[in-house]
Amino acid sequence: MMKRQTVLEYLREREELMQERICPYCEAHLDPGEKCTCRASQGLAEYTYRVVKEDVVTGERGKRVRKITKRNPLDVGGLYMHLGKGFKGAYRVLEFVGME
Ligand SMILES: [Zn+2]
Repeated sequence: MMKRQTVLEYLREREELMQERICPYCEAHLDPGEKCTCRASQGLAEYTYRVVKEDVVTGERGKRVRKITKRNPLDVGGLYMHLGKGFKGAYRVLEFVGME
């Protein structure tokens, strides 16, 4: 049996489906699940990582894992100084979370 829906609901649903397949930045048509690379190629992408404070001398790591978003990609496993405001000392990059 067909699900009943109003014309408005039908149109809204269709619109949502269409939106998912078009990049909001460059309007390129994308395959389902595909992510456009236009932001990255323009240097506008932001990369999010999970990082943890690490003592450069002892190698001891802090307990609190934090998230950081950067304009430039970081190396997972790398140790960085001066990652940003509020990130005093050295931080180890644990994991890549995603690109926006
Ligand atoms: Zn795009």
